[in-house]
Amino acid sequence: MKIDLANLTIKKAHDHMVKGDFSSVDLTKAYIDEIKKKNGDVNAYLEIFEDALEAAKKADELFKQGKAGPLTGIPCAVKDNILIQGHIASASSKILQEYKATYYATATKKLAQAGVVFLGRTNMDEFAMGGSTENSAFGPTRNPHDLARVAGGSSGGSAAAVAMDGALFSLGTDTGGSIRQPAAFCGVVGLKPTYGAVSRYGAIAMGSSLDQIGPIGKTVADCEAVFNIIRGQDPKDGTTITDKTYPTKRVGKKKPVIGIPRHFLGGDGIDPAALEAFEAAIDSFKAKGYEIKEIKLPNISYALMVYYIVMPAEVSSNMARFDGVKYGLHVDGKDGIEDYFKTRRAGLGREVVRRILLGTYVLSSGYYDAYYNRANAVRAMITQDFLKAFESVDLIATPTTPGPAFKIGDKASDPMSMYLEDIFTVTANITGMPAISIPSGTTNKDGKELPLGLQLTARHGDESTLFQAGKEFAGE
Ligand code: GLN
Repeated sequence: MKIDLANLTIKKAHDHMVKGDFSSVDLTKAYIDEIKKKNGDVNAYLEIFEDALEAAKKADELFKQGKAGPLTGIPCAVKDNILIQGHIASASSKILQEYKATYYATATKKLAQAGVVFLGRTNMDEFAMGGSTENSAFGPTRNPHDLARVAGGSSGGSAAAVAMDGALFSLGTDTGGSIRQPAAFCGVVGLKPTYGAVSRYGAIAMGSSLDQIGPIGKTVADCEAVFNIIRGQDPKDGTTITDKTYPTKRVGKKKPVIGIPRHFLGGDGIDPAALEAFEAAIDSFKAKGYEIKEIKLPNISYALMVYYIVMPAEVSSNMARFDGVKYGLHVDGKDGIEDYFKTRRAGLGREVVRRILLGTYVLSSGYYDAYYNRANAVRAMITQDFLKAFESVDLIATPTTPGPAFKIGDKASDPMSMYLEDIFTVTANITGMPAISIPSGTTNKDGKELPLGLQLTARHGDESTLFQAGKEFAGE
């Protein structure tokens, strides 16, 4: 049968493969054809894997033996900072351009064991630092809804791959919004799991206390299916949690109660279209019988500042390992220290260098107490605000982003305006709470319909409430 990629979901593809309507090889070929048609414009993929069809053949064997699981034979895209053994993982940086992973990340290992087909690796902001994929060393990813605009970032390639029907789902990483923001810009669903729900082993670290791997898909149910496979405690990541870690998650009650921090939504830089879509989303929850409550998050206006201190501090430490000896690029100097300087100068882009400088500064003696320690204290206060709010509500709703995708080049030379894009997303990383972005309508700009996203945040460990409300909202 002709495969209708535009309307396919993981569940539908699985059912078709069980029935024998098409095989995983057919499906994989269909995706590769679509990628070949569109990737020249979109630049979602940096590489299509030559072994994809081989993996699809193996998946078809599992179907024949009756051993196929829900993700067997499903083609997916993987962000270029998540390791797949034997494949390049460059984090879209020149310094790792030729680095081949010698082991699997736990998340990709679990997917491989589930029989998933890896189609290729996707473009991103260098080392996940950015919100537009313009910081890639390999050119920006373009938004499939309007090629003049960004796909978002840093997981722009992963979101665009799904939006352009170039994969049925993808993996991204989210340190301050990098799964949810590009998902919102591209009109797909993105989940940032609870900190510790998914192992970070084999994800190239950016800000280790903030990073999580998560799925991007066309539906909430698809993201749930992927999350259920990749989640779980992992001896290789001591911060991973078990189901028992957060006994406070919602149980029993029928409809989750939704809280709205209205005092935080009126800021200057917010596009009225984003607020309109948000109000419409809340109305639709009301119509479905959800109780809506206004909540206060007294310290939330500090969240972005906290993030832009804690994150670069961790970045500066994590980036120290790229020394021209252990991984990737090596440029010779007259001695060891000059090797180091020359390699890093040749291999690292401007935004990465900016963050190493910022992070080194906030961690330096004399400034450590004034910046890093204070940011950590405020981080704890913000988390307390959320925990307090979750005493009376089950979900907190905001727009995912202050507006739709912006034009390529619009914010690239103004880091502050780029950082403001993260205003609604960073809190989930600061608090460690799970959050999802779900498409919530479009707005017309320059004659193009651009997607917007609704963000829901839940208590630690309570992804199930995100999925329940998300599915109802999306009408799944
Ligand atoms: N846009 C944010 C930043 O630039 C988020 C990045 C991310 O989540 N990896 O830091």
